[in-house]
Amino acid sequence: MNLLNKKVIVTGGTRGIGKAIVTELANGTYGNSFISDVAFVYNSSDDQAQLLVDELSKGPAKIFAFKADVSSYQKAQETVESAIEKLGGLDILINNAGITRDNLLLRMEESDFDKVIDVNLKSVFNYTKAAIKPMIKQRSGRIINITSVVGLIGNAGQANYSASKAGVIGFTKSIAKELAARGITVNAIAPGFIETEMTEKLNDKQKEALQAIIPMKRFGTPEDIAKVVGFLCSDAADYITGQVLAVDGGMVM
Ligand code: NAP
Repeated sequence: MNLLNKKVIVTGGTRGIGKAIVTELANGTYGNSFISDVAFVYNSSDDQAQLLVDELSKGPAKIFAFKADVSSYQKAQETVESAIEKLGGLDILINNAGITRDNLLLRMEESDFDKVIDVNLKSVFNYTKAAIKPMIKQRSGRIINITSVVGLIGNAGQANYSASKAGVIGFTKSIAKELAARGITVNAIAPGFIETEMTEKLNDKQKEALQAIIPMKRFGTPEDIAKVVGFLCSDAADYITGQVLAVDGGMVM
């Protein structure tokens, strides 16, 4: 499972799951022997982005941060082009950036629906479209999209978010079929409830109720997801494409 010298783009790399993915792929911090150069994209956390670059630049991998709203198609094309220039190529794309704007449908504003679809789903189109050009040329590549278990089973109060994540699953399977013969695999990971700033918004009662329906009786950690991303990037996953892998302590089975 060696990822030496791979070139990777990760969207949403400053916090939570994305930060763990960047750290794992650059350094193998959570168990795999990876050393890959990573360009990550973020939206507004300048200080966190700089800290991560400074921290990981102490290791052997090259790390670059790009500030760009992933929902902008034009910005995505420019960002991928600049990242490829800095990295010297592209082997792996991880579409991870995501947001929530939860509300029951009766109270959900049109703007909250549009925003979540743009950041969570359109961004996957934006970045995948830009990234596949070099991958097709070199006849190899890996694309991993971070969806969610609620894209599989739905969730009251998250019609916008669940729709965006179900959309990511449909996109993943379609592109996997389009690109399989070109040596590019496309898979999705569906995390269950993971301890990040996104889930910090839940109150204690909600957290208790959720833990009760997780067979493993705990929330996941960003590292639980990063390790599986590492597996899907590795040679061990050469023959896996178009799959949705739930990493959720057994919540959805
Ligand atoms: P998080 O802690 O809130 O971090 C979100 C990341 O996405 C940050 O790096 C943020 O950048 C970036 N981002 C947000 N909007 C962006 C935009 N418009 N343009 C560019 N970057 C943007 O989230 P997380 O919990 O790690 O979630 C990561 C992914 O996993 C998301 O797709 C989420 O839907 C999915 N997921 C999470 C859970 C969970 O329980 N946490 C469960 C299932 C799926 P800034 O720091 O600059 O804002």
